[in-house]
Amino acid sequence: MSIKVVKFGGSSLADADKFRRVAEIIAADPDRRYVVPSAPGKRFSDDIKITDMLYQCYNLARDTSTKEEFETCYSNICARFQGIIADLGLDFDISGELTYIKNAILGRAGRDFAASRGEYLSGLILAKFIGFDFIDAENVILFKDNGTFDADKTHEVLTAELARHERAIIPGFYGLMPNGTVKTFSRGGSDITGSIVARAAGADLYENWTDVSGFMMADPRIIKDPRAIETVTYRELRELSYMGATVLHEDAIFPVRIAGIPINIRNTMRPGDAGTMIVASASDYDNKHIITGIAGRRGFSVFTVEDDLMNSQIGYGRRMLEVFEENGIAFEHMPTGIDTMSVIVATADIDPIREKIIASLNRTLKPDSVTVDDGLALIAVVGRGMVKAKGTAARVFSAVSNAEVNIKMIDQGSSELNIILGVEERDFEVCVKAIYDEFVND
Ligand code: ADP
Ligand code: ASP
Ligand code: MG
Repeated sequence: MSIKVVKFGGSSLADADKFRRVAEIIAADPDRRYVVPSAPGKRFSDDIKITDMLYQCYNLARDTSTKEEFETCYSNICARFQGIIADLGLDFDISGELTYIKNAILGRAGRDFAASRGEYLSGLILAKFIGFDFIDAENVILFKDNGTFDADKTHEVLTAELARHERAIIPGFYGLMPNGTVKTFSRGGSDITGSIVARAAGADLYENWTDVSGFMMADPRIIKDPRAIETVTYRELRELSYMGATVLHEDAIFPVRIAGIPINIRNTMRPGDAGTMIVASASDYDNKHIITGIAGRRGFSVFTVEDDLMNSQIGYGRRMLEVFEENGIAFEHMPTGIDTMSVIVATADIDPIREKIIASLNRTLKPDSVTVDDGLALIAVVGRGMVKAKGTAARVFSAVSNAEVNIKMIDQGSSELNIILGVEERDFEVCVKAIYDEFVND
């Protein structure tokens, strides 16, 4: 018998009907032995995800003047969980849990603890509904003192725990710090938990069930009915998810990659669709297309320094990057000219300290000028087929220029797996559309 680990996202567990569908999917294949649920997500477009409600409650609980709003917010959370239990016809009393959590949020429990309770309660209810064991993630997903995920220790503890359970639910998104406090991954982190569980279970497949029939070639919010990607490699997917294709958390690749476990993105509302397979290497699967996918993000700023004879000054780039390093800022790209050098960073990261960075650049480099431009969007055109196909860059650039979009920056990864374009934020969607149209019928 093979083992499948199945993760269900928030939209797949938004209400009792969705819980029933999830139960059917699990029951349809006895290999689906370990299940990682998210917190209930949106039921309709302006609904609020349970996780967002929990963050809101946590904030309201910090201030005595918002006590009433806290009460309302928390009772809305309780009502959603109680509603799911009632609609499922379950004889399951979670009122003790709800009171405990409420007091903890009002007391000393941290922000991460509050946020994690969505997954915790969702997991308890699903375990009760389908009769699987419940493994609390705080016993098996472990972080280090510095807040980073402890992959080795988790693997050891989780492998031993899973061996004790034929079938189990392990809630996504959170784990435990060595000091006994709950810690979450970043948003969307249940995908990471699923991947960690798949590795520890020695799974043959990690199924990630969501609200789309696979990874699309472009964001469905920008391109109407985009083509689904049949197969994508871990590396391509990492590029795409890092650049904003949010269907899978960008860090969810690592645990399964170690073990070579494929991920299958599937649609809970259309379980018959094959979805997308994410695999170790392209040679495992045939690839018919040059471009695998397009993704992008807004919200970047460009710091440019100009300095005559910069090219002859050894160590200039290092000193420039050190300024960002000293300020704890990660950089995305570093396009250079002979006498100019630019560093592209996320605007949200630099905003509070932009003046400080400009001053440091002036002091450290003594350049002719330092300028900062905001409002840049980055678009990644990703495809393992690009190495072999001649003229891909030319096709990308002419498609973009035919759409009358001005390209402000170009970067091609040394792997030839991607071409990154920087454009004005207002041109972002037009640019994605232009590239999509150029390559979609390859
Ligand atoms: P879940 O709640 O199941 O974790 P997410 O909302 O995290 O689901 O991810 C699924 C969503 O990702 C889709 O509904 C879609 O709006 C968005 N998305 C962005 N880029 C893509 C893409 N390239 N392909 C598919 N979905 C995408
Ligand atoms: N519920 C968490 C979030 O909204 C984690 C997840 O959905 O993966 O970010
Ligand atoms: Mg998600």
